[in-house]
Amino acid sequence: MGGWSTVKKRRSVKVGNLTMGGGAPPIVQSMNNTLTTDVKATLNQIEALARAGCELTRLAVPDRAAADVLPEIVRNSPLPIVADIHFSADLALRSLEAGVSKLRINPGNIGGPDKLREVATAAAALRVPIRVGVNAGSLEARIIAEEGGVTAHGLVRSALEAARLLEEADFRDIVISLKASSPALTIAAYRELAGRCDYPLHIGVTEAGFGSTGLIRSAVGIGTLLAEGIGDTLRVSLTDDPLAEVAAAWDILAALGLRRRGPTFISCPTCGRTQVDLVRTAAEVKNALAHITEPLTIAVMGCVVNGPGEAREADFGLAGGKDFFALFSRGEVLEKVPAERAAARLIEVVNEYVAGKASEA
Ligand code: SF4
Repeated sequence: MGGWSTVKKRRSVKVGNLTMGGGAPPIVQSMNNTLTTDVKATLNQIEALARAGCELTRLAVPDRAAADVLPEIVRNSPLPIVADIHFSADLALRSLEAGVSKLRINPGNIGGPDKLREVATAAAALRVPIRVGVNAGSLEARIIAEEGGVTAHGLVRSALEAARLLEEADFRDIVISLKASSPALTIAAYRELAGRCDYPLHIGVTEAGFGSTGLIRSAVGIGTLLAEGIGDTLRVSLTDDPLAEVAAAWDILAALGLRRRGPTFISCPTCGRTQVDLVRTAAEVKNALAHITEPLTIAVMGCVVNGPGEAREADFGLAGGKDFFALFSRGEVLEKVPAERAAARLIEVVNEYVAGKASEA
């Protein structure tokens, strides 16, 4: 693993002020779950997403009313906007006029070749890329019949056929996604696709579910692909608040050493040697420092076996003893703190450090 520079060189597109593909770091994206026509709620959620580290968000544009409010949303949004459109070239054209930074369409259901060419021409004039998305749940019956089921190869065929419709309209700023709820099928499909085209790839495990199930399925699917250098933008799809998707995406990127934002927390599982309330202490530290964007490593460890080593290696750390913790800062023991005050003291030390860095900047 050598960082994001190991991402296979692919064609790049501009999405607002972002570069997607071409070896650029994978972009974290999400999708609003507000009614697009509720402009206030939509902008509030976009702002919250931006604060959480989201870099690009998608809005459903199911009807004319949603398209009509896009100019106001685009004008006030801190993030580039992707318009998600099905069945209507008119909505795609209106979204482009509104200033969106990317379209997500299905070339097969936008109203025929002439309509598709109209959308592609308008997008090309504005240098707005188009994502074509294939989903295992809506794979064409013809391909399912020919492949003998929903297969990785079938998903790739469908995606490349969709891309070809845009290519025939002389459009090349294409991003491709092909998603399945099975991480194994998703991985197999993207592996094949990555070898058969050089378009930037949007990766994710769709409908991954909620809670730890959704997180694990996403981490396995997305993490495996990113570790192989596949994926130029990622969306973790959870049955949850979109903010949880963004946090999970950053955790996946940090786990692979590809990108970091905010603290990386290390804590031990506890065992018979633990003589402090480690679970409570670690949770208190993690919750209180979740807002920090500085890439720090913070260790909360139970005892002297591995604790001092991890705490010393981290930027800040606690290593438990009998009813106390040793507080480490930058590799040195700063002080010994009674266990019940250790979390609060570590939080204080880290906040002071971050505030000091901010005032230097
Ligand atoms: S660090 Fe100590 S308390 Fe934590 S699991 Fe390891 S041996 Fe047990």
